[in-house]
Amino acid sequence: MNIKSLGWNDEFESHLNSLNNDNYTPGRIIREHRKIYIVETEQGQLQAEVSGRFMHAAKCLSDFPAVGDWVALSVRPDEKRATIHARLPRKSSFSRKAVLSGSKKTDGGKTDEQVLAANIDKVFLVCGLDDNFNIRRIERYLSIAWDSGANPVIVLNKADVCPDVEACLEEVESVAIGVTILTVSAIEGSGLDQLRTCISPGKTAVFLGSSGVGKSTLINRLLGEDRLDTGGVRIADSRGRHTTIHRELIVLPSGGIVIDTPGLREIQAFGDEEGLSRTFSDIEELASHCRFADCQHQNEPGCAVRNAISSGELDESRFNSYLKLQKELAHLERRKDVKAQRQLYRERDKKYRQHSRENNELRKKGLA
Ligand code: GDP
Ligand code: ZN
Repeated sequence: MNIKSLGWNDEFESHLNSLNNDNYTPGRIIREHRKIYIVETEQGQLQAEVSGRFMHAAKCLSDFPAVGDWVALSVRPDEKRATIHARLPRKSSFSRKAVLSGSKKTDGGKTDEQVLAANIDKVFLVCGLDDNFNIRRIERYLSIAWDSGANPVIVLNKADVCPDVEACLEEVESVAIGVTILTVSAIEGSGLDQLRTCISPGKTAVFLGSSGVGKSTLINRLLGEDRLDTGGVRIADSRGRHTTIHRELIVLPSGGIVIDTPGLREIQAFGDEEGLSRTFSDIEELASHCRFADCQHQNEPGCAVRNAISSGELDESRFNSYLKLQKELAHLERRKDVKAQRQLYRERDKKYRQHSRENNELRKKGLA
């Protein structure tokens, strides 16, 4: 396997070179299962684990490799095994904020990120043009996509069952300013060529969207096969039992790469400020015309947002989903704040203890 076809490029090459170790081989994670990794390399698929030093240096969950990551390996070809010494910097990533198990709610609930997929170039937001069609959901997924650092494309699937594709398209256009929107039918095969050309060779894509919108069917169409399972990999777990697992990074016949992990499939809408602003740039623009800089857009005088709602220029439900997302973000921020404050107290405590220790010593010496 030529690693360029897996997405290897000059940028990753220079990251690897900066590690200054000629014995390192690059590999891309195609599957992770309880910290046992399957990596694709120029020497084929290998089973790998992180080195002791890596384990020791890792500060949080997101430091560990995830599917799509490039890593620096030392290879034991005879065993078909390898050790991961470093994870190369990520170009983009999709993560889920995880509340760490073991930490109590009263503890402020430490948040950590679990990376679901890394180094993604393109994200297809799939939405069904059937009963699933939901403009609010598209907004939220769009917000996730912007946060990841990858480029979003909206895929409206099941065009075959939609009586008025044009109307739906118009509605989506109004909430997805400047985003490419494709209408396709995985069943009938329409629009698939356009979809295919959106994933250039060597570029990596993910498909997001709620269950049943047709993600697997679309990926299978791109694969030209009728099964998502493209050949399992046999690995031995820590007790030496062999299990067959499925690769989660697939190279398409057209040269594009698709990552499809169970975690990504369940990804829930959350985001950060930037994603929110980009998704709701129209509302932020309106808000900049409110009379008060800290306008809450409730019933303040001179509120441009309220005015736009009453004139029909802004859809009230769009405004409500903006507020809802904002609330979720504020909640996550507060959690981070609690964590930051505890850290501050700990440091102050440490300084205080050090200070009194020094004072005591001086006193003993009769100097204070
Ligand atoms: P996933 O959960 O997003 O992976 O969705 P699936 O690919 O499993 O598809 C869910 C259902 O939708 C299946 O019964 C598919 O046959 C059906 N489906 C997928 N694409 C289309 C389409 O373009 N048109 C219609 N009518 N049905 C589709
Ligand atoms: Zn306002």
